[in-house]
Amino acid sequence: MCIFCKIVAGEIPSNKVHENDEFLAFHDINPKAPIHILIIPKQHIENFQSCPGEVMANMTPFIQEVAKKLDLDKTGYRLITNNGEDGGQEVMHLHFHMLGGAKLSWPYQAIEKVAKKYM
Ligand code: 5GP
Ligand code: ZN
Repeated sequence: MCIFCKIVAGEIPSNKVHENDEFLAFHDINPKAPIHILIIPKQHIENFQSCPGEVMANMTPFIQEVAKKLDLDKTGYRLITNNGEDGGQEVMHLHFHMLGGAKLSWPYQAIEKVAKKYM
């Protein structure tokens, strides 16, 4: 069982923010912003690339509810999913990072690589 499946099963504790039958939102253990939430489907889906569209259809309103619960709907937030090796995905269970609580810098990654390829 993967680490996020263990969190869903309650085998690893988490600081939950929001939950329904299909999805769970909890605080990231190593926050990269004042507010850093992980939003996952309860079923094991490896990443965004293998995620059925129907799951995303239900996940969208759930993510919006999480933002509302934390008042981030008013101040704004960044939503990220790291997909696969180049995307920097470390936990192979689909998750969206919701980052907020401060003005976030942008852009911040891989500038050199982009420049070499396209310039
Ligand atoms: P990735 O790099 O796969 O996009 O992000 C994985 C995220 O999961 C990281 O931000 C990391 O801090 C977080 N994480 C890893 N293990 C745990 C854990 O056991 N509990 C919580 N709450 N977050 C975790
Ligand atoms: Zn899993």
